[in-house]
Amino acid sequence: MTIQWYPGHMAKATREVRELIKRVDVVVELADARIPQASRNPVLNEILSDRPNVLALVKTDMADEAVTKAWQQHFEQNGETVVLMNAKHNHGTGKLVQEVKRLAQPKMQALQKKGIQNRSVRAMIVGIPNVGKSTVINRLVGKNQAKTGNKPAVTQGNHWLKVSNRMDVLDTPGILWPKFEDPEVGYKLAITGAIKDERLDFEDVVLYLIKQLHERYPEALKARYNLSELPSEGVELFEAIGRKRGCLIAGGDVDFEQAAEVILRDFRSEKLGAISLEKPEE
Ligand code: GDP
Repeated sequence: MTIQWYPGHMAKATREVRELIKRVDVVVELADARIPQASRNPVLNEILSDRPNVLALVKTDMADEAVTKAWQQHFEQNGETVVLMNAKHNHGTGKLVQEVKRLAQPKMQALQKKGIQNRSVRAMIVGIPNVGKSTVINRLVGKNQAKTGNKPAVTQGNHWLKVSNRMDVLDTPGILWPKFEDPEVGYKLAITGAIKDERLDFEDVVLYLIKQLHERYPEALKARYNLSELPSEGVELFEAIGRKRGCLIAGGDVDFEQAAEVILRDFRSEKLGAISLEKPEE
């Protein structure tokens, strides 16, 4: 489920997240490891005020491991705290808790000086729709407690869930919109399921994916679709894959719509392997 974002929604979401951020010691921003740049929200930096934040690259099981490492280095060189996570193998949760507590230290020490002892560190999870916010909250608390659903409204009824004896997390995540001005970013978000397929021309999205795969992972394409050579033209490659998979209309022409569905399904179900769609040096 994805929200349609309008300027009014965006302003409201900003206000709400800004308010919630005031109540926490540390903000955990999630980004999709396959598209670490495209899946970050453009305004978060402005509303963090002075809160320390951790960048959690999630879904690392679906991303190219070497590229994810390069991203981690890139962000760390920019002074960010990065944790790699994947829910599939429950990897990274302990490290996330450790980093949140570390970043909260100055605040906790200041509170202790004022005589406030033993207050738990408070964190919140923020990120664009479908990035994995509920999954991370559930991993943190070890139960199926997180509210799902992508309502931008997070004003009523939020409370703290216990993560460990010294850390709590807000039960509702902060939902922020993705960047959609740049068409390439839009394609990447559609491919990974962050924005609804209908928002963009479906066949265009898949043509973009095919071009990316051709450039970055040609061997994966050859293996999956049993092609010994890859046509250099994107549309021809699209057609060749459609033909191989038997996506044809009467008369023997390729049914691009059906072929697009097959390719997107293959990508999303990792039939093409672990794939990253952007690199830090680009
Ligand atoms: P939210 O909208 O940000 O709360 O996203 P969800 O937590 O509902 O996750 C969106 C989808 O991503 C769900 O289908 C999850 O199962 C899937 N997902 C979340 N984290 C991971 C992960 O680390 N690895 C994989 N493979 N899938 C994940």
